[in-house]
Amino acid sequence: MGQYLTPDYRTEAGARCQLWWFLTSIIAVGIAISGCGGPYLDTAAADHTVSAPAADSAISPLVTISAPLEHATLQDTLQGVTATTLATPTPATPTFTPAAEATPTASATPTPAILLSSLLPTPTPAAEPSPTLAPTPDGIARTVRLPILMYHYLSAPPPGADVYRTDLSVPPDRFAEHLDHLLAAGYTTVSLYDLVAYLTRGVPLPEHPVILTFDDGYRDNYTNAFPLLVEREMTATFFVVSDFLDEERPEYLTWDMAREMLAAGMSIESHGRNHFSLEKKDTDYLVWQALGSLETIEFELGTRPRFVSYPAGDYDQNTIAVFHSAGYWGGVTTVQGMAQRMDHLFELERIRVRNTTSADELLRLMSLDW
Ligand SMILES: [Zn+2]
Repeated sequence: MGQYLTPDYRTEAGARCQLWWFLTSIIAVGIAISGCGGPYLDTAAADHTVSAPAADSAISPLVTISAPLEHATLQDTLQGVTATTLATPTPATPTFTPAAEATPTASATPTPAILLSSLLPTPTPAAEPSPTLAPTPDGIARTVRLPILMYHYLSAPPPGADVYRTDLSVPPDRFAEHLDHLLAAGYTTVSLYDLVAYLTRGVPLPEHPVILTFDDGYRDNYTNAFPLLVEREMTATFFVVSDFLDEERPEYLTWDMAREMLAAGMSIESHGRNHFSLEKKDTDYLVWQALGSLETIEFELGTRPRFVSYPAGDYDQNTIAVFHSAGYWGGVTTVQGMAQRMDHLFELERIRVRNTTSADELLRLMSLDW
């Protein structure tokens, strides 16, 4: 943390910083002399004594700013200030408070109170959609009928596509119809975080919530789905295969794309490291999949993923145990349905959206009692 609290005097910013504090000190002393600036003097003095040796007078901390200064003329001036100030009693001994640890920045506009948090490193400027604390269930076994839609490719199937590829592909114009019909029917997109907050703690959901999910992290999710969502101020969750992004596979998202989507309010979650099945695997292998994808996503995006979509829908109880112990909060399956339960956070149900799923058919599926 030290590097964020100590001005770097070797840099231009550091030099400006010194000059600013020097000028502030002069003003502070002047105010003190005129007898009307006691509190301000205290603050200014304290700010300048962050790394000063123990002061033996009320005034000497003010002088310590001259130590790093390189220009003799400035030092001479400061010494003159010291002499003047020593002759004038100050209201109180500067107090060494935590606030004084806040190093002045090179900002052109000095701010009296600098929040420590503003000085801490921020991995990315992205929005922080995921809470950092694990949800603590309040003991109430909640259930909710909340549709989680499952998409894959968001593009027209390529010529010659087989039946599987075609079935996984929803053209952009059809997807736009889906979104518009959802909005017209009163649906509001929420996130898996919202769902878990409701199930574990009763945090209210909107009247007609829906969660949109995309498996595999295909590039057309960025080029086609993402703009349509942003236009409508809707959100979605994208489950990425972390090795595929690391390998810069052209058919998949890049980390830059994922960062942009995250910053726009989307969720980026884990679909494992390499899309291999997570069913009937030993614990070491599952830890490698769970932690490997989690740490890679967190490293790249600055936000820890909390949800997994089991590749091909394959999982067993050991899969759940390992992902839970690795810090995940839940998992989505390919089990068809929309009955989400507090005691089955790692077996959330979804509704598969197919190439042939029209907007009306989608709303019909969402109205079924399943
Ligand atoms: Zn998949």
